Order: sequence, then structure tokens, then C-alpha cells
Amino acid sequence: MLALLAIGVGEAPSRIEHVVMVSVDGLRPECIAAPIAASYPALTRLARGPHTLQARCDPQISVTLPNHIDMITGRTVAGDAGHGWIANDDPPSRKHGGTLHARNDGYVSSVFDVAHDQGLSTALICGKWKFVLFEQTYGEDAGGPDTLAPDNGRDKLDLFVCDPGPMSQADHTVTFLHDAALQGKRSVAFLHLPTPDFAGHANGWDLTDGSAYRKGVADADGVLARLLAAIEADASLRGKVAIVLTADHGGGVPRISHVDAEAPINFTIPFLVWLGRDGESFDLYQLNRDTRRQPAPSERFAADAPPPIRNGEIGNVALTILGLPAIPGSTANAAQDLRLQAPAQPVAETGASTSKTASP
Ligand SMILES: [Zn+2]
Repeated sequence: MLALLAIGVGEAPSRIEHVVMVSVDGLRPECIAAPIAASYPALTRLARGPHTLQARCDPQISVTLPNHIDMITGRTVAGDAGHGWIANDDPPSRKHGGTLHARNDGYVSSVFDVAHDQGLSTALICGKWKFVLFEQTYGEDAGGPDTLAPDNGRDKLDLFVCDPGPMSQADHTVTFLHDAALQGKRSVAFLHLPTPDFAGHANGWDLTDGSAYRKGVADADGVLARLLAAIEADASLRGKVAIVLTADHGGGVPRISHVDAEAPINFTIPFLVWLGRDGESFDLYQLNRDTRRQPAPSERFAADAPPPIRNGEIGNVALTILGLPAIPGSTANAAQDLRLQAPAQPVAETGASTSKTASP
């Protein structure tokens, strides 16, 4: 009998039917490390899987809207195929250039395009109005044709909600997942949690116990706790929902902002992959030594080295988990080579002297 010795990372994630991408606006990774993490049970749970607290935001810019464009399109601001959107305020209307396509030579595809064209339900639930850029870019007036049969249409976002209230954000997300499951559809959702950033701009990125910022992170943690509880309470979702969490930027330089793209506390962010159940914590860089390089804590990236893990990889990570292809035109994790599980040990050949036998 052949013995397959898995090395503790569980089964392949193909049982996953839904992926919720989460961006916690302005989340400093210290909030997911001891001792602060003890205050945040949901964030702590989401670290029960492959993750790093040394991911990076966009190489050029550490503000909200450009970094969310990175996440949703898999591109960076500058460079080849850069999306070029540096503004961080509410976009102009669609007719006045307020789409990503209008700033580029051609159609700028997104994680929502790939998922929707493949028949999945899609949602963007956000807490800042500037995200209307995505509704303007991927709604029925500007979304691209679906060239895969059946035709699921040009409106790549089945649900777009802007609502900064933590409890209503959780409710919108849970309702979306329930509806998808009831319809027998797989789904991709993007959930943007704004409260840490609101608190940081009001009172600074103060990590001390009881600070406004810590309360803002607690509000985001509360949304995630409600989401996790709702998933577990529903047999049609339990074990089938992966959550991939990152941030657009950290914050604190200058004290009540995060605009200095050279400041480590602004560009250092977490990247967590929770594969539907609490697993073992793995360091994502250790799993990806051949393709990603962890910069020193003071570095945005190491020169002449493989790139760091970036928030812009999240869309292609979500698609990888669902077995879907990469976002057309993307450059961040475009090869979908960010490994989320340790490679299983090879199947031992019968009688081979190197084979091991699992303990009963
Ligand atoms: Zn901000």
C-alpha cells in the first residue's frame, strides 16, 4: 500500500467555493502579532494559515485608492501595464474619465471580470465612496463583454455597496454569501473595512492599548468575527469559504497620515490566507523562497532580488484558490505562483528503502 505523508498543511483548497478578499484600511501588522493580537480574536484566527506580516504595498505609493486598484486589477501604479491611477479622492463621473479604462490604452481587467465571466457571483462591499470608481469601471456601462459562454453580461459586479458601518458591512457580506450558496453559485467578494484608517487620521496610528486606532481595529475585527461565525453556522458555507486579508497601507508617517511611501510603518502590511478552517500557521516567504524575497524590515524591496509579497497579489491568489485563471494584463502574481501550501512529500514507492510508514 502506498503511503502518502502529508506534511501538515491539510488538503488542497479545491473544496473552497467562495473567497472573500478583505482589505483592512490602514492596518498595521503589529496588530496581528503578540501582544496586541490577543485583543483581536478574528484576526488571530485568520493567521491560522499561510501568512506574512512583512508584505508590501505598491512600490511607489502608500495611499488608499491606488493600492485598491492594485488589488483588484493585479497591476501596480507604475511600470509595464501600470494602471496609472494616483489620485486618492472621489473619482470624476464615468463620462468625465472616471474609469480605469479611460486612463489606459485598453480595457483594464479585474478579479471581478474573471470570476463573473466564469459564472461566479461577485460583490464589492466598501466603506469609502471613492470606491465608486470600481462600479463605474466594471458596471454595465463600462464593463467588458463576456466572451465565455454562457454570456453573463457586462456588469461584472453583482453587488456594489458603500457603507462604512461595521455591523452592516458584515450583514451585507453574509447575505451575499448566503444568497450565492442558495443559488448554488460560487462567489468572489471584496470587503473593504475602513475603521482603522478613520481612527488613524483622527488621532494617529497609536498602537497603545485603549487608543482610538486600537478601537478602529477592534471594529474591523468585529466584522470579521461576525463573518466567521455566520460561515460556521451555515452548513452550506462551513469549510467552503476562504478569506484572504491584506491592507492598502499601514500608517503613522506623518503622524495622522500615511502618505510617505518611504516610511516602513506605511509600506509594511500583513498578507494572510485562511483556507476555510483553522490550520497551521506558515510563513508565506518560507513557502515561496524561490519566487519571493522578504525584504529587511526597513526596505520597501530588495534590489536585484525577487519581489516581496504585495497586496496587489490578492486578486490572483483568490482566483488560484478557486482554480480560475489569472486576471488578463495583471503583473502581480500573474503566474499564480504564490504557493499557499507546502508541496506534499512524494508518494513513497512500495519497498523503497527511503519510504516511511505513517504511525497508526
Ligand atoms: Zn488613509
